[in-house]
Amino acid sequence: VADAKFDDLCLAIQPLAQEFLDRVNAQIAPAICKIIVTWRDADAQGAAYDQGLSSARAGQSPHNCMLDDGTPAARAFDFGIFEENGNYVINGDDPRYTNAGQIWKSLNQTWGGDFTHPDFDHCELANWRETNL
Ligand SMILES: [Zn+2]
Repeated sequence: VADAKFDDLCLAIQPLAQEFLDRVNAQIAPAICKIIVTWRDADAQGAAYDQGLSSARAGQSPHNCMLDDGTPAARAFDFGIFEENGNYVINGDDPRYTNAGQIWKSLNQTWGGDFTHPDFDHCELANWRETNL
């Protein structure tokens, strides 16, 4: 299972994600920035790895984080830029992805575009590996 539910983000990232969306959308209108993936379970993470969509194996991604009781609490999200007509902007080199990444970084967080294998649509908490978020 992979989903895009805002509620499946951990409480630490939710206000940051909302500010990110507000700021990016104010800049790129009438295009729209939307969250397209929040939480992935182990099966979906394994599939994403197998397809080359993620460099993390099952359980190794901030998208996989859960509370102790198994409630999804992703510490990362992926976003998409959509034209006014709804068309998905696939090209990660589009300057709107870079601009969005800079906004996420301005919130003192980690953008996937800076990774060795750039992941232009990925935003994660800088401290997501801490256990007590
Ligand atoms: Zn991601």
